[in-house]
Amino acid sequence: MIFNIQRFSTHDGDGIRTIIFYKGCPLRCQWCSNPESQSFGYSVMYDKKSCRGFGDCIKADNRAITRINNNGIQIDREIITGPEKLRDICASKALTISGESKSVDELLTEIEKDSPFYRNNGGVTLSGGEPLSQGEEFITLLQKLKGRNINVNMETSLHVNWKSVARCIGLVGTFLVDLKHIDQDKFKSFVQGDSELVLNNLIKLIDADAQVIVRIPVIPGFNHSEKEIKQMIEFVSSLKNVNEIHFLPYHTFGVEKYKSLGMDYTFGHKKQVQDSELEPYIQFAQSKGLQTKIGG
Ligand code: SF4
Repeated sequence: MIFNIQRFSTHDGDGIRTIIFYKGCPLRCQWCSNPESQSFGYSVMYDKKSCRGFGDCIKADNRAITRINNNGIQIDREIITGPEKLRDICASKALTISGESKSVDELLTEIEKDSPFYRNNGGVTLSGGEPLSQGEEFITLLQKLKGRNINVNMETSLHVNWKSVARCIGLVGTFLVDLKHIDQDKFKSFVQGDSELVLNNLIKLIDADAQVIVRIPVIPGFNHSEKEIKQMIEFVSSLKNVNEIHFLPYHTFGVEKYKSLGMDYTFGHKKQVQDSELEPYIQFAQSKGLQTKIGG
C-alpha cells in the first residue's frame, strides 16, 4: 500500500525523480514527519478547519463518527469499519483516507509517465514508511524497474531482518540509509527499535558491495550534540566504501498531520534546526574525508 507519489522531485537522488511513499514502518520515531506512513493499513485524516459539517461521514459510519455540536466531528479510529468506503465521502475534503493499494503494473504505469524526464541519473526513489517492510510484490516491482533500466534509490532505516535487505541487493542503485543514533538506549526510547539491528545490517550491506549513502536526521533533544553526531560520523568514516554523508535537519512540517490523525506529537514544540547549526558537523565529516550535503 502506498500513500503518495511525488513527481519531479529533485531530492533523494540525482536528476529528476518519482518518489513512491509506502505505508508501514516498524519504527516509531518521535519526530516522524510522515506519521500517516507508520501504519500498514488505511489512515483516517480529518482537518477540522476544512469541515463544513455536511455530515456524510456520519451517515456512512455513525458508530465510529459522531458530531460534536457545531464543532466538527469526533472519530473513534479503533472501531471504524472499512475506512476505504469513506474515501470520497467528504465533499469538502476535510475527511480523507491515506493509503491506496496499487498493483505492480499500476505503479509501473505511473512511473513510466515520468520516465522521459529521468535524465542525468534520475529515476525512482522508494520511500515510506519503510519500503523494506513490503512484501513480494515490492521485489517484483524492483525487478521490473531493473528490466527497464530505471535507476532506483531506496530510503530505509534498515530496521528489518537481513533477509529483507538481502533480497534487494543488485536491484537498488543506491541505499539512502538513515542512521539515527548509535546508542542502544536512546534508539530504543525515542524510536522504539534496536540500533544493533540497523548497524549490523548496514555493515552487511556494505560488505555486499551495495552503494550506500548514510543520512543523519539531526534532531534536537535526541542526537543534536557535537558528541553524538561526531560519534556517528566517526562510525560512518570507519565503513569501507561509504564516501558520502547527508544531514537532514529537523523540521516541523508534520505538525498538522499529527492533528489530523488524532495523534500526539511530542516533538511538535521543538525548534527547527537551521543549516548554520550543522556547520561543525559538516566540517568534521569533511575532515574525515566524507562528502557532505544538507538535505536529501
Ligand atoms: S523510520 Fe521514518 S517513517 Fe518510520 S517512524 Fe521513523 S521517521 Fe517515520
